[in-house]
Amino acid sequence: MAFVTLQTPRSPHSSTKNVGAEQQCRQFPRSRSKSKMATTHDAEALITSHDPHHPANLICELCKKFYTLGWVTGTGGGTSIRDGERIYIAPSGVQKELMKPQDLFVMDYATREYLRRPPVLKPSACTPLFMAAFTLRGAGCCIHTHSKDAVLVTLLCEAAGTDVFEIQKLEQIKGIPKGYGEEKKGNLGYHDRLRIPIIDNTAHEEDLKDTLEAAIQQWPDTHAVLVKRHGIYVWGKDVAQAKTQCESLDYIFQLAVEMHKLGLPWIPK
Ligand SMILES: [Zn+2]
Repeated sequence: MAFVTLQTPRSPHSSTKNVGAEQQCRQFPRSRSKSKMATTHDAEALITSHDPHHPANLICELCKKFYTLGWVTGTGGGTSIRDGERIYIAPSGVQKELMKPQDLFVMDYATREYLRRPPVLKPSACTPLFMAAFTLRGAGCCIHTHSKDAVLVTLLCEAAGTDVFEIQKLEQIKGIPKGYGEEKKGNLGYHDRLRIPIIDNTAHEEDLKDTLEAAIQQWPDTHAVLVKRHGIYVWGKDVAQAKTQCESLDYIFQLAVEMHKLGLPWIPK
């Protein structure tokens, strides 16, 4: 299931070297700081690079692969990468497998102002949810999928009357980090129990923000939140970690659905 080789994942605290310094597109309200002003050329430079690991190229490549897995079908789902003080975000309503770097929005992390905004596209409704992972958990990448198995797992939990997905004793659980901080370094072990909180869906994606933030606070070790009848948000310190976790979780959800069909318990006795 590996699809992109990520040799040099970027840290959210590094910045892209081949674009100009703090810049802002002229089509947007003037920034409080003159140093943030930029030309249209500067805004285009934000998404122009031959480096396959540049966030603008990576988001397009990842979404193309995610489409083949059924994670971003029918323009659903999305991906965002934090690169230093810049946030790269896939737009709303775009066929994710056909997306180009020119379609991406770029936001200044500190001011939340768009440095680049394609005039014919809408910003992603996932933006406040991606920002929650960046601000509350220091994430460098956040992936949102509409994976069928993630949705099915939330339906099975709903039927069982629980708002937490729990599973134990599967090898792939080792792909999920224990938590945050020095004492929680490393990944879960084979005998550890994986727990992912589930929040209720809302009519509009952006309205999930408050409950997603509350789930992150309530579950301080979690790197993902399931959304009932909708999908999942998964984040990591960088692209490689977010992608590894998203793949591992989806594999575990597929197994969980099959185990349920076979009458096998998620927590062995
Ligand atoms: Zn969604």
